[in-house]
Amino acid sequence: MLKILLTIAVVWAVWFFLIKKPKVTAHRQKMAQKARREAAAKEASKEEEIMVACEKCGTYVSSKEAIIVSGRYYCSKSCAGVK
Ligand SMILES: [Zn+2]
Repeated sequence: MLKILLTIAVVWAVWFFLIKKPKVTAHRQKMAQKARREAAAKEASKEEEIMVACEKCGTYVSSKEAIIVSGRYYCSKSCAGVK
């Protein structure tokens, strides 16, 4: 009886390590990949925010706040000439 239990335990252990573990690892890799992607996206958005000079008055504004008209940065709509 003990032998049977031992066999089951060994089979279960082998099943657990060979089948279940890779799944967990894959899930962890997915999570790590997601975290890496989010970090990279955060880093990219951080790099995107640069100070740019207004084409008209020369005021420095962050690229996120700047108004871009035909590839040129403006500090405000009045400088950009849009309403
Ligand atoms: Zn301006």
